[in-house]
Amino acid sequence: MTPDLTAVASATKGFLPDDEAAALHAAALTARPGLWLEVGTYCGKSTVHVGSAARAVGAQLATLDHHRGSEENQAGWEWHDTSLVDPHTGRLETLPSLRRTLWDAGLDDVVTAIVGTTQQVGRWWTTPLTFLFLDGNHTEEVAQHDYAAFAPHVEPAGVLCIHDVFERPEDGGRPPWNVLRRAVDTGAYEETAVTGSLRVLRRTEKPVT
Ligand code: MG
Repeated sequence: MTPDLTAVASATKGFLPDDEAAALHAAALTARPGLWLEVGTYCGKSTVHVGSAARAVGAQLATLDHHRGSEENQAGWEWHDTSLVDPHTGRLETLPSLRRTLWDAGLDDVVTAIVGTTQQVGRWWTTPLTFLFLDGNHTEEVAQHDYAAFAPHVEPAGVLCIHDVFERPEDGGRPPWNVLRRAVDTGAYEETAVTGSLRVLRRTEKPVT
């Protein structure tokens, strides 16, 4: 990434260490042009890393979030940020932050924000994908749903990245690990790289189940 874009990403709130951000960017650069999808946008930190790769490759990136925060972002939870609360709803509201991030990064023409839950969007999504980044809600139900809703749309040889994957339970929640196991154990994806909690996989010819 250019120093300008690295500075924008660094200044953006989010939960992505620098080494994982670099690995995500590098993985995205190996994906083909076409439509890319990020599930879980928050304020757009990873969106800058993936979006800049999309610009380089000639892809378009859609980034999907309801923008009202996950459980762990709500008041009283560990990852709550009071500066992101919308006084009108009393809930988190990260869409304005994303808009500012995309403006600062000059990525408005590459990134399309989709505002909704994955359950809503999964119902109508049909477009094939050449890159998918799963980084949404980390409950078992939603993490499995997001894989089932979007992973089948990744074309053979397409790239799947999964964030917050922890092999040891003491390091973090189980759902992303369980999604990784599902992807690999069913043969639908082959793992190609690991950096911290970021896993990079490539789609095979086998069906997603
Ligand atoms: Mg994450």
